[in-house]
Amino acid sequence: MTEAIERPASAAPPWEYASAPESTDIVRLDDRYGLFIGGEFVEPKSGRWFPTISPATEETLAEVAEADAADVARAVDAARDAAPAWRALAPAERAKYVFRIARQLQERAREFAVLESLNGGKPIKESRDVDIPLAAAHFFYYAGWADKLEYAFPARGTPAPVGVAGQIIPWNFPLLMAAWKLAPALAAGNTTVLKPAETTPLTALLLAQVMQEAELPGGVVNIVTGAGETGAALVDAPVDKIAFTGSTEVGKIIRRSTAGTGKRLTLELGGKAANIVFEDAPLDQAVEGVINGIFFNQGHVCCAGSRLLVQEPVFDALLGKLKDRLQTLRVGDPLDKNTDVGAINSRAQLEKIEELVESGVEEGAEIYQPECLLPERGFWFRPTLFTGVSQSHRIAREEIFGPVLSILTFRTVDEAVEKANNTPYGLSAGVWTEKGSRILHMAQRLRAGVVWANTFNRFDPTSPFGGYKESGFGREGGLHGLEPYLTFDGGAR
Ligand code: ADP
Repeated sequence: MTEAIERPASAAPPWEYASAPESTDIVRLDDRYGLFIGGEFVEPKSGRWFPTISPATEETLAEVAEADAADVARAVDAARDAAPAWRALAPAERAKYVFRIARQLQERAREFAVLESLNGGKPIKESRDVDIPLAAAHFFYYAGWADKLEYAFPARGTPAPVGVAGQIIPWNFPLLMAAWKLAPALAAGNTTVLKPAETTPLTALLLAQVMQEAELPGGVVNIVTGAGETGAALVDAPVDKIAFTGSTEVGKIIRRSTAGTGKRLTLELGGKAANIVFEDAPLDQAVEGVINGIFFNQGHVCCAGSRLLVQEPVFDALLGKLKDRLQTLRVGDPLDKNTDVGAINSRAQLEKIEELVESGVEEGAEIYQPECLLPERGFWFRPTLFTGVSQSHRIAREEIFGPVLSILTFRTVDEAVEKANNTPYGLSAGVWTEKGSRILHMAQRLRAGVVWANTFNRFDPTSPFGGYKESGFGREGGLHGLEPYLTFDGGAR
């Protein structure tokens, strides 16, 4: 399966990196974590607990409570009880709490980064430089809006909070997704019940401790841990709004169960983004963008650039450069500061990636994987490229959510648009070209919520993010992300 890159005999040997592990001393883990309800950690009524592990070593880090429907009901009651006082608080006072959370996140950034990498398997350089700073930035950004809501939405009437929000998040950006959900909800005066993903609950539970330190009134934020059943119980509970980020499959279930209930809903679901390289693109820059687009966070990214569309004249040149670059990616210990690709988040996810990659080989695409030694324990997958991919292949249609890039080619601009849009998803896309007019032309025609030009995977709290078609509806980030948490004139939707 592996094809080694031929190097000229005179070429210098590749650099060897000494190991540079980040210390885990800063993280103090409890043996067990209860549910965070009414400002306190409480034992689950269910009496059930489950282990949470490090996907890089498979060792158990702690036990976490599994909330059943009665536990979820208790959390929703706590949020309901806390709602009147939180809503009545002067907006500038509310903002102070949100600013405090943002500052605490910055102060404890290293602790959060180490814990995120331990529990989720992502490289420490990503949790340290992307996840945690962006999470803090979201709280800062939305704190700033808390006392300016009338100016944020002029001529819409008097803004008021929606009430109690149920928020369900995935495992790929655990703290960042919690921030995307909590920051706008709190700034708009809502109270919340958050359900982290079952494989990555620990940074949300550390965030609960930050809420306590920030003296956030009890019940304003509640955190219930558990798996799909806990999430389903939250969807069915008497909340006013559900915000969900996760798979399209579960998004469809939630859409069905909230239909006709009057609950507001926003869904941020899967993706199969096209990253389109035109012949006039600066190729070396594009290579970095393509690599970042698919290997960032092991490809566990809903907006990952998982379909590379290359204009035919530059296909050979780009492929050569991509293969060379793949050889330099360091796969391994997420806590090593030099690691580029960390552990796959869970055994189930690894099996899903393996199954789809096998289907690619069986359907006739050509696989390329660089030589690299993988650790014996834990869940790992080598960075992978597929060429000779046709649009009907499963690896071109289905979301793999792993470090696997499917490469297709095109000749004309129209063909690029057609192929890029030939997907049930519509979350993101990338365009690489020197021509500004072509960027604008493409951005207008690509059915994707975000179109990056000569870059990829850039996020900012001020910028709305969300999808079309089976990638969901509603936006997070910016003013667009605030709006779903508000009603106007006490009820207009
Ligand atoms: P993935 O397949 O990537 O794990 P999921 O959509 O299954 O994504 O999970 C995203 C979040 O949704 C997780 O917190 C998970 O526990 C939760 N979840 C899973 N099934 C359901 C469900 N039926 N109702 C509500 N939440 C669910």
